[in-house]
Amino acid sequence: MAYDTLDVPEKGESVTVLDETTDALEVPETPVIPILYGDGIGTDVGPAAQSVLEAGARATGRDIAWLRIYAGESARDRYGVNLPTDTVEAIRDFRVGIKGPLTTPVGAGYRSLNVALRQRLDTYANVRPTYHLDGVPSPVTHPEQMDMVTFRENTEDVYGGIEWDHEDEDVERVRAFVEDEMGFDDTIHDGPVGIGVKPITEFGTKRLVRKAIDYALEEGRDTVTLVHKGNIMKFTEGQFRDWGYEVAEQEYGDEVITEDTLWEERDGEQPDQAVVVNDRIADNMLQQVLTRTENYDVLATMNLNGDYISDACGAQIGGLGIAPGANFGDALCLAEPVHGSAPKYAGQDKVNPTAMILSGVLMFEYLGWNDAATLVRDAVEETIVSKRVTYDLHRQIDGGEKLSTSGFADAVVENIE
Ligand code: NAP
Repeated sequence: MAYDTLDVPEKGESVTVLDETTDALEVPETPVIPILYGDGIGTDVGPAAQSVLEAGARATGRDIAWLRIYAGESARDRYGVNLPTDTVEAIRDFRVGIKGPLTTPVGAGYRSLNVALRQRLDTYANVRPTYHLDGVPSPVTHPEQMDMVTFRENTEDVYGGIEWDHEDEDVERVRAFVEDEMGFDDTIHDGPVGIGVKPITEFGTKRLVRKAIDYALEEGRDTVTLVHKGNIMKFTEGQFRDWGYEVAEQEYGDEVITEDTLWEERDGEQPDQAVVVNDRIADNMLQQVLTRTENYDVLATMNLNGDYISDACGAQIGGLGIAPGANFGDALCLAEPVHGSAPKYAGQDKVNPTAMILSGVLMFEYLGWNDAATLVRDAVEETIVSKRVTYDLHRQIDGGEKLSTSGFADAVVENIE
C-alpha cells in the first residue's frame, strides 16, 4: 500500500479478511497497526500505551509493526491539514488501529475530527465496556457490580454535524421551511437561533442493535437494553426503540426474547441461552446505572445518549482515566479511550494511561489475541492493586506511590515481563 505521507514499516503485514459475512480475520504474527497519539494528553498516553501493548504482544510471541499516523495538531504541524486522507486510508487498509483523543473547539472553529473519522470510516458502533478493576477507588459502595457495555451509534443523531450557526443566512431559510412549509409556526422563538437536525435512520439503528445483540449472544450476557428518550422525541428516539425491537423480534428466533413477552408468556422466567431485550428512558437510565447496577448488561443507544451514559458509568469505575472504548465497523476496529485531550495536563507526563492501554486490550481481543489481552489487563490491575498509580487514583487512596504516565506504563511492563 502506497501513501504520499506515511512510511509503512517493512517488518509488518496487513490484517486481512477471510470471510466478509462473519468478519473473520487472518492476523499475521507482526501486523501493521496504525497509531495516532492525538492532541493534548494524547502525546503522554499514546507512547505509554504503545510500550505496554508492545510488551504484551512480545510476551505472547508476537510483534507489532507500528505505523504512526497523524490528525489534529500533529497533522496541522506536518501537513497543514486537520485530517489527512492518508490517515483515514491507513486505518481502512490495515483494518485495526488505535487513537488517542482529538481536541474539538467549542462553538466556533472546525468540526469534530473524531466524528469525521467515525463517519468516513463508517465505524458505526462505539463500544464502551465499563468494568471495575480491583484496587481502583470509586465513589460508589459496590463498584464491582458495574459490568456494562455501551453500544453507542456512532454516525448519526444530533452529532451528525447537520447544523446551522445563528449568524449563517441559511439558518433563516431553515427556520422559514420549518415554520412556514412544515407548519411549526410559533414554535421557534424570534431572534437569533442555531438549528440542528437529528436524523435517526432504520438502517443506522438496526445495524447498531444487531451488533449489540450479537455481542450479548457471543459473550453470554443476559440483557440488551435500548436506551432512548422516545416519550418526548417520538419519531427519532421512539422510533429507535421500535426498530430495535423489530430486530430483536424478527431476526433471532428463540435466541432473543423481549421483556414484555417474558412476562406475558413466561411469568418473568428467562429461558436458558436467551438474551432479553428491554428498553429504558434515558433519564431514568442515568439513575438506574447507579441504583440498579447489577440489572444491566449491554446498552444499545444513540450517539448523544451513549456519550453521556458511558461517561456516567465510567465515573463508577474510577473515572475517565480508566474507561476504554473502541469503534467498530464491518471488519474494522479503531480503539480509543473515552476521555478527551484534557489540554491543561498536556505534555506533563501526569495523566493515567490506563484508558488508552485498556482500549488496546479491546483491539487485541478483536485480533483474537486473547492471551495478550488478559496478560495486559491483569498487569494493569496488579499495578493498581499494589497502589502504584497516577495522580487521579492517588488522590483517592490512602498511601501508595504516585507515578507519572510513563512511570505507570513502565510498572505495567515490569508486571507483564
Ligand atoms: P477530558 O479531556 O476527558 O477531561 C476531563 C477531565 O477528565 C480531566 O480534567 C480529568 O479530570 C479527567 N481525565 C481525562 N482523561 C484523563 C486521564 N487520562 N487520566 C486522568 N484523568 C483524566 O474532557 P473535556 O475537558 O471535556 O474535553 C477536552 C477536549 O477533548 C475537548 O476538545 C473535547 O472535544 C475533546 N474530547 C475528545 C474526545 C475524543 O477524542 N474521543 C472525547 C472527549 C472529549 P481532573 O481534572 O478532575 O483530574
